[in-house]
Amino acid sequence: MTHIHPHRQEIRRGILIVMFLLFPVSMNYFSPYVIIDGASQGVANGSLFVFGLLFLTSLLLGRAWCGWACPAGGLGEIACVANNQPVNGRKLDWIKWLIWVPWIGIILWALISAGGYRQVNLTLDTVGGISLAGDADRPVIFAYIIYYLVVGLFLTLSLTLGRRAGCHAICWMSPFMILGRKLRNIKVWPSLRLQAASELCSNCKTCTSHCPMSLDVNAMVQKGVMENDECILCATCVDGCPKGAIKLRFNAGR
Ligand code: SF4
Ligand code: SF4
Ligand code: SF4
Repeated sequence: MTHIHPHRQEIRRGILIVMFLLFPVSMNYFSPYVIIDGASQGVANGSLFVFGLLFLTSLLLGRAWCGWACPAGGLGEIACVANNQPVNGRKLDWIKWLIWVPWIGIILWALISAGGYRQVNLTLDTVGGISLAGDADRPVIFAYIIYYLVVGLFLTLSLTLGRRAGCHAICWMSPFMILGRKLRNIKVWPSLRLQAASELCSNCKTCTSHCPMSLDVNAMVQKGVMENDECILCATCVDGCPKGAIKLRFNAGR
């Protein structure tokens, strides 16, 4: 069949690669540490706003950020060149909550100890807005160490466990989006979603074998339930289905 969006996946992967290459600039705006540093000084920093934005955009776009723009997601997809094994999400997905819940607790504790936010500094712990930089107070070597630790951790998980394993197991950002889409589902707000026509499906399982989040997309199509916490709305299944059985739609469906 002729795909409606023949180059969409190349564009998506291109954006992810560019975002990963820009990670030395952007790292501190996604940082689980800088938000604590800011809270302990009563400073609302860039990560606070980015995490808030991820939650808000997830009300409309689910986890499209993960599928289309996240630097660590880009690294995860680059690593697929070396290890494209699907991962067992059920074994990994819960681990991130063990990280996220205490981390939120630490941020709140730091914030309460500081007496709340008193000022805004979106470029906190950067030099001129650039994360991988040093100044008189913070030698650049520390920024490099953190950068390579983060990249090394995500890369090691992908290379050892498989496709986007870090996204499943350790990501501190995805819970904001998962909670956002749960709220959206409860409220039945319209948003970007997958929609499937099971009667068109030939059970070829192309969608399942190519899903970057290792979801059993074929089973989701057969059940007619396309909502899944770990779906990143990358549209790989949409663009790869030879029967056109899966669509991306903006609506209030399941
Ligand atoms: S799960 Fe986390 S690391 Fe992976 S793409 Fe989403 S935000 Fe990025
Ligand atoms: S790729 Fe399309 S036809 Fe094949 S299993 Fe998935 S939904 Fe069904
Ligand atoms: S189910 Fe489809 S849109 Fe969702 S992550 Fe898998 S391939 Fe991407």
